[in-house]
Amino acid sequence: MLRIGVVGGGQLGRMMAEAGAGFDARFTFLDPTDSPCAALHGRHVQANWNDSAALESLAQDSDVVTFEFENIAADAVAHLASQCPAFPPAKALETAQDRWAEKSLFRSLDIPLPPVAKIDSQSDLDAAIAEIGLPAVLKTRTLGYDGKGQKVLRETKDVSDAFEELGSVPLVLEGFVDFDHEVSAIAVRGRGGETRTWPLSRNEHRKGMLHCSIPEPGHPLQALAEDYISRVLTELDYVGVMAFEFFAVEGALLANEIAPRVHNSGHWSIEGAATSQFENHLRAVAGLPLGTTERLVPCAMLNVIGALPERDAVLKIPGTRWHDYGKAPRPGRKIGHITVLAFSDEQLSERIEAVEKLLVNDLG
Ligand code: AMP
Repeated sequence: MLRIGVVGGGQLGRMMAEAGAGFDARFTFLDPTDSPCAALHGRHVQANWNDSAALESLAQDSDVVTFEFENIAADAVAHLASQCPAFPPAKALETAQDRWAEKSLFRSLDIPLPPVAKIDSQSDLDAAIAEIGLPAVLKTRTLGYDGKGQKVLRETKDVSDAFEELGSVPLVLEGFVDFDHEVSAIAVRGRGGETRTWPLSRNEHRKGMLHCSIPEPGHPLQALAEDYISRVLTELDYVGVMAFEFFAVEGALLANEIAPRVHNSGHWSIEGAATSQFENHLRAVAGLPLGTTERLVPCAMLNVIGALPERDAVLKIPGTRWHDYGKAPRPGRKIGHITVLAFSDEQLSERIEAVEKLLVNDLG
């Protein structure tokens, strides 16, 4: 038996627990909400992420603690890590929490990224616009997700009140990237430094939220993406699964952001890979040998956002797998996903098209 403590109790924790069943793993989820969706598969301790007493008891009850949520105070993570093995390391969470720290890390590792400036006032913004130009994307440094806490500035009139509009909080300004497409590299690093990377996922976003991910074995930028993510994993002495999102532009990659956890763009791996991101994350944090990461068949993941499509109609499409997270539907909320499996790329496109016709997503 393996006792795993998880900070966060959302769908990522729920799918981690589903992957842990084969290891007879027992899960405890620390989450402040009333009935987090991961509680279906484990014990729920209702407390705030940074509640030191709750974190201490989570450490006492677990062989290893991990995170499905990264916005936990760095000192709380450091304290937790002094009580029991806790992965990924505090430094990785701290870096990913702050877009400026993240971009500074990319720069220090010679990983190309869009032009970027640190913004602490409207006058910083005016000066940065003069340098970077328009269009540009203004983002909050902390707590942004799924395109929230950001604004695209297209014309001069969009700039004048933008600092206040985003809440007069620390920001970054990025040059707008006219990308060919977006990809994410998902990799896992074990306690001994062994690293494996899944095939790159080609990702389509709508309103800043992930709509669809399609793994592409043999993508021409695979080796480059693996090189970049390995630099980050090594620098952070990372253990567990990490996702690295990139913009693909004219045969090159520009770094967007890292997530120090299992990631939405890797959900296809549950059915579509030799080992899923969830299972390999557990193997890594528990110190077990890692599984191989190849794609088994052509497949895709489509997000279900804000409203469920008619389930039985989706299930009637051959090769579909249904994932309802059991969360109350709300506009803009990820409440499930559908994996589509096929025997050829052509068949996959047909099946994706059939599923897309049924989706009733409400992006808010
Ligand atoms: P983020 O939360 O930074 O990952 O942004 C969410 C999505 O917004 C990205 O996946 C892109 O589709 C889009 N986006 C973010 N930053 C930029 C940028 N600098 N240029 C163009 N599109 C962007």
